[in-house]
Amino acid sequence: MLNLRSNEPLWLSTTPQLSAYPVLHEDITTEIVVVGGGISGALAAYELINRGCKVTLVTAGHIGTGSTCASTALLQYEIDTPLVKLINKIGQENATKSYLQCYESIDDLKQIHKTIGIPNAFQAKKSLLLASKKDDVKDLEIEYTARQNIGLRVKWLDDNIVKDKFGFNSPAAIYSDKAGQTDAYIFTQKLIEWCVDKGMQVFDQTGIVDVISEKRSTHLQTDQGYVIKAKYVVMATGYDSVKWINKNVARLHSTYAITSKPFDKREKLWKDKCLIWETARPYSYMRVTKDNRVVIGGKDETFSSAIKRDKLLNSKAKQLQATLSKYFPHLRFDVDYKWAGTFADTADGLPFIGGIPAMPRVYFSLGFGGNGITFSQIASKIIADAITNRSNNISKIFSFERLNFK
Ligand SMILES: Cc1cc2nc3c(=O)[nH]c(=O)nc-3n(C[C@H](O)[C@H](O)[C@H](O)COP(=O)(O)OP(=O)(O)OC[C@H]3O[C@@H](n4cnc5c(N)ncnc54)[C@H](O)[C@@H]3O)c2cc1C
Repeated sequence: MLNLRSNEPLWLSTTPQLSAYPVLHEDITTEIVVVGGGISGALAAYELINRGCKVTLVTAGHIGTGSTCASTALLQYEIDTPLVKLINKIGQENATKSYLQCYESIDDLKQIHKTIGIPNAFQAKKSLLLASKKDDVKDLEIEYTARQNIGLRVKWLDDNIVKDKFGFNSPAAIYSDKAGQTDAYIFTQKLIEWCVDKGMQVFDQTGIVDVISEKRSTHLQTDQGYVIKAKYVVMATGYDSVKWINKNVARLHSTYAITSKPFDKREKLWKDKCLIWETARPYSYMRVTKDNRVVIGGKDETFSSAIKRDKLLNSKAKQLQATLSKYFPHLRFDVDYKWAGTFADTADGLPFIGGIPAMPRVYFSLGFGGNGITFSQIASKIIADAITNRSNNISKIFSFERLNFK
């Protein structure tokens, strides 16, 4: 399996594994099997259980220990492809629907935290998108107008206002009212615990090595030689899923993140402790954790191997530290955790959600891109709608039909 991250993400290091689950040692039959115990599998399971379905979840490692525990977990409706560019790629109507769906899913995620009993793990935030250089201002202004036109609540900040409110120089920025942040590792573990309370079975350390579609059901072969027979399958196996699809759906990248030690509680850091990111590609981003640590991520590279990715960690960590100093020279940033991860993106910046012709009743939840968690939430609803025979007016936008399967 793909090596998804280096060893030391903050959340994995500071949070215990909350619950342990058995390995599957027999053949079983279930209505729906969710494969993958990361945030995508957990959200899909939550939505299905909420609708009264019978669900079993299996995962190769422990819950949440794939890319989920490495996630810096900024929750944004602003996807990596700006609205204006997305309109050019997929048309005004579909681009608008995509953005509005992402906007709505921030509230959905907030509500889910509440329902499963961890309301404080979700923090509502604002988001600052900076023009990285003067040449980006014109496009950013067009983006601002496009967002306003579809009803998104955004403010335009010119260089003087940025300086006045944030204290650093940037040619301009868009300030968005809707964003959030969470701890993806805790969130995933708590989602699974909630589902188990409602009757879901979970098996960890149980890898799926083969998926065989029969006429009315699907048979999944485990790495221990057992068979899971299910009517429906949700594949939430992260970036490893590509191997089941037999098509080039995504490009892999290495990405890096560091956190500071907690700053004194009285240290305000910056206005609203909002999420900060920028127009440059690849971009850097910053956020503040609940215990007042600064998290900075980015400095992406094309992924070639986990060894090469991890070799760059120290130099990337220094570059990220320098980025913070550029904006906030008065902050003394002592690096407490640094880690590398792998993520994927797609040509249009949208996730792949749904089925492929070769695997009937198998649904993929592939939240590729910098907004993987927002996309996983959208996927959970689309897939649950497909399984429970409800219509869904956005599913086509994210479907594999974009790849022209024959
Ligand atoms: C450093 C970093 C920062 C990020 N920051 C953000 C961010 O700020 N905001 C955001 O929205 N997203 C962010 N992302 C992306 C986000 O983390 C991912 O989209 C998300 O974690 C993917 O979750 P997942 O459940 O799909 O995959 P994973 O968490 O990787 O889970 C997949 C699970 O499937 C299991 N599995 C794989 N193959 C099999 C198999 N054959 N059989 C059984 N089990 C299998 C794996 O063991 C794993 O546990 C970031 C990613 C990284 C690496």
